Amino acid sequence: MNAAFSLNGRRALVTGANTGIGQAIAIGLAQAGAEVLCAGRRACDDTVARITGAGGTASSVLVDFADPMAGQGLFDGAGIDILVNNAGIIRRADAVEFTESDWDAVMDVNLKALFFTTQAFAKAAFARGGQGAVVNIASLLSFQGGIRVPSYTASKHGVVGLTKLLANEWAAKGINVNAVAPGYIETNNTEALRADADRNRAILERIPAGRWGQAEDIAGAAVYLCTPAAKYVHGAVLNVDGGWLAR
Ligand code: NAP
Repeated sequence: MNAAFSLNGRRALVTGANTGIGQAIAIGLAQAGAEVLCAGRRACDDTVARITGAGGTASSVLVDFADPMAGQGLFDGAGIDILVNNAGIIRRADAVEFTESDWDAVMDVNLKALFFTTQAFAKAAFARGGQGAVVNIASLLSFQGGIRVPSYTASKHGVVGLTKLLANEWAAKGINVNAVAPGYIETNNTEALRADADRNRAILERIPAGRWGQAEDIAGAAVYLCTPAAKYVHGAVLNVDGGWLAR
């Protein structure tokens, strides 16, 4: 493998790695040579089995980011030099009915946990004088308003803001911070949209690629941002959306 695209010898932690986009990214990182720690509120056994079954190295750790500080201690002495902040939730209701608990639950997992987990990662990386890469999973709703998902939209706009802030602070210190913004991907997160025939048709009509994305479509972009090939990429948001935002 071209060394610029190799993750041999690297150790990665992926949040929400038991399913969907996080699982695909964990597998992609392992295929590029990284050892992968799969973090989830449920055991990531399937992901670990797929990686080790293909000859890679992976393990699983239980972390529930409903507590935004749950990531503290994950990185101490662990030699982890790649962090993919993928865990995320969505709550749908009309803005006029939206509850404080749906606001807090989404902001805690998608934004507050992302920030404090990344802070813990960086503290450990700086303590060992190490380099590192962080990839945050943003969304089309980092750029657009969406509908009936106010806390999700607010959180994902925040993810892009934090990506840029952290890149500004850490680029010169050896940590690359970037984001990937997935389009409409077939995962648990979008089940309700696909179940609504009208929404599904409207979404498909607007995607230039003419299809929903698969979790695997996101993996390559996330892996790239962790490799030496992306060493000079800081604060970027890579859209992987079948062309949605180009429309
Ligand atoms: P998903 O299948 O629902 O996966 C979300 C992952 O986050 C799951 O592993 C989930 O665990 C985990 N998670 C949720 N709450 C958690 C918590 N409190 N602690 C630890 N882990 C938690 O959806 P997905 O589409 O793959 O979503 C992955 C990321 O992509 C999210 O940040 C999402 O916002 C983003 N995204 C998705 C799309 C899309 O179209 N699918 C588009 C743009 C952005 P459980 O399995 O236990 O729930």
